[in-house]
Amino acid sequence: MSESRVVVIGGGVIGVSTAYYLAEMGARVTLLEQNKICSGSSQGNAGQLTPGHMPLNQPGVIWRNLSLLMKRSSPLYIPMRWDWGLMCWLWRFHKACSPPRVRRATELLALLGHASFELFEEFKDRFDFGYHRLGRLEVCLSKKSLSEVLHEAELLEGFGFTWREVSADEVRELEPAVTTPVAGGVQFHESAYCNPATFVVELSRAAAERGVELREHVEVKQVLANGSGPVRITTADDQLEVDRAVVAGGAWTPRLARQLDLRLPIQPGKGYHLDIEAPQPGIRAPTLFVEERVFATPIDDFVRLAGTMELSGFNLRQLPARIRQLSVGAGRYMEGIESAPVRSRWCHLRPMAPDGVPMIGPTPTSPKVWIASGHGMLGLTQGPITGKLVAEGILTGKTSLDIAALRPDRFTN
Ligand SMILES: Cc1cc2nc3c(=O)[nH]c(=O)nc-3n(C[C@H](O)[C@H](O)[C@H](O)COP(=O)(O)OP(=O)(O)OC[C@H]3O[C@@H](n4cnc5c(N)ncnc54)[C@H](O)[C@@H]3O)c2cc1C
Repeated sequence: MSESRVVVIGGGVIGVSTAYYLAEMGARVTLLEQNKICSGSSQGNAGQLTPGHMPLNQPGVIWRNLSLLMKRSSPLYIPMRWDWGLMCWLWRFHKACSPPRVRRATELLALLGHASFELFEEFKDRFDFGYHRLGRLEVCLSKKSLSEVLHEAELLEGFGFTWREVSADEVRELEPAVTTPVAGGVQFHESAYCNPATFVVELSRAAAERGVELREHVEVKQVLANGSGPVRITTADDQLEVDRAVVAGGAWTPRLARQLDLRLPIQPGKGYHLDIEAPQPGIRAPTLFVEERVFATPIDDFVRLAGTMELSGFNLRQLPARIRQLSVGAGRYMEGIESAPVRSRWCHLRPMAPDGVPMIGPTPTSPKVWIASGHGMLGLTQGPITGKLVAEGILTGKTSLDIAALRPDRFTN
C-alpha cells in the first residue's frame, strides 16, 4: 500500500492535515481545492485549540433559547423559513441533547482533543504558526453563568482536563483588559492558540515538501467508486483515477457524499470574526466571554473577536447586526472595545453535525472513499488527529484510536 495514490478533496485544516499524514506514511497524494488553500472556515476562525470542550448540544438548549433564536443579534440565530434539511437536522440535534448522549459526545471530543493537542505540540517544533500554550479563561458576568461553567468544568475533569476557579480580582490580574465588574471565571489549563491561517498554510508547505501535489482552483464535480475498480474524480477539465479518495470539503461535503449514496446531515453554521487593533491593555490569553459566547484571541499583533452561530443556509452574507454583536458583546467585559480600529470583518461556514461529533470513516457503499467532516466548532483543534486517523485507516486498515462511533453513516440506521 505504500505507493497508494490518494486524492484529498478540500484544502481546509482537515484536508491539509490528511494530505500531510498520508504523505508521511508514503502515499502519493494530490490535494484538490476549489479556491485557494485555507479559504474556507479554517481561515479566520478564533484560533483557539480547546481539546476539552462540550458539544453545542445541551439538555434543553433549544427550549431555553427559543425566544432568542430568531433575534439577529443573539449568539444562536436561526431565521424562520421552510427548510426540510434544517428541520431534520434540528430534530437530530434535539435527540442528541439527552444527558447520556451529551456525555458520550464529550467523551469522544475529549479523546480526539487530547490526541490532537499532542500533535500540535509536535508541529510547534517544526514550524512557526504563532502557537502559544497559555490555557483558556472563561469569564462570567453573573453567578448563574459561573455555576454553569463550573458544572461543565467538573464534567470535563472526568475526561482528563484540569481547571481552577478564579475570583473576580484574579480575572482582572490575569486579564487587565477586563475592566467591568464580573462574577469570576474558570481557567482551563489544557488549551492553546495560534494563527489558524498560518497553521494551515505552513502545514500545506510541509505537505508539499513531503511530495503532496497541491492543486488550487480545481473544483471536484464528481466522485465515483464502483467495486474493485479505481476511484474516478471528475473536475471541470480533468479526470483522475486513483486508489483512494478523501472528501474533506467542510460544509460542502454532503454534496459529494450524495453521489456515493450517503446522506450526511451537515448544516452550514455561519460564524463571524471581527479583528481589531489590540487595545491597551490587550488580551493576554484566549478568553471566552461566557454570556455573550464571544471568543477573544490575541493573534499576532491584533485581537480577534469571534463566535456566533447562524443557521441561515448556504450563504456568506455578512449581517451587520451579528458583527456588531461581537464588539457589543465583548464591550460588556472590556470597556472601550467598541471603538477600537477594525482590521477585518469575516464570516464563514462551519460544517455542523447534529450530534456535535465529527464524521470520520469510509462511505458504506464505496469504502475506498473516506469522509472527514462535520467538525463544527472544533475543526482547528481536531484537524491534526483527524488527518492522522484518516491516513492510518486508509493505508493500513487500522487506526490508533477507535473511531467506530464517528462513522459517517451513523445517521442512516
Ligand atoms: C467564527 C468561527 C470561529 C471558530 N473558532 C474555532 C476555534 O477557535 N477552534 C476550533 O478548533 N475551531 C474553530 N472553528 C471551527 C473550524 O474553523 C472548522 O471546524 C474547520 O475550519 C473546518 O475545517 P474543514 O477543513 O472541514 O472546512 P473548510 O476550512 O471550510 O475547508 C473545506 C474546503 O473544501 C473546499 N471544497 C469544498 N468542496 C469542494 C469541491 N467540490 N472541490 C474542491 N474543493 C472543495 C472548500 O473550498 C474549502 O476550502 C471556528 C469556525 C468559525 C466560523
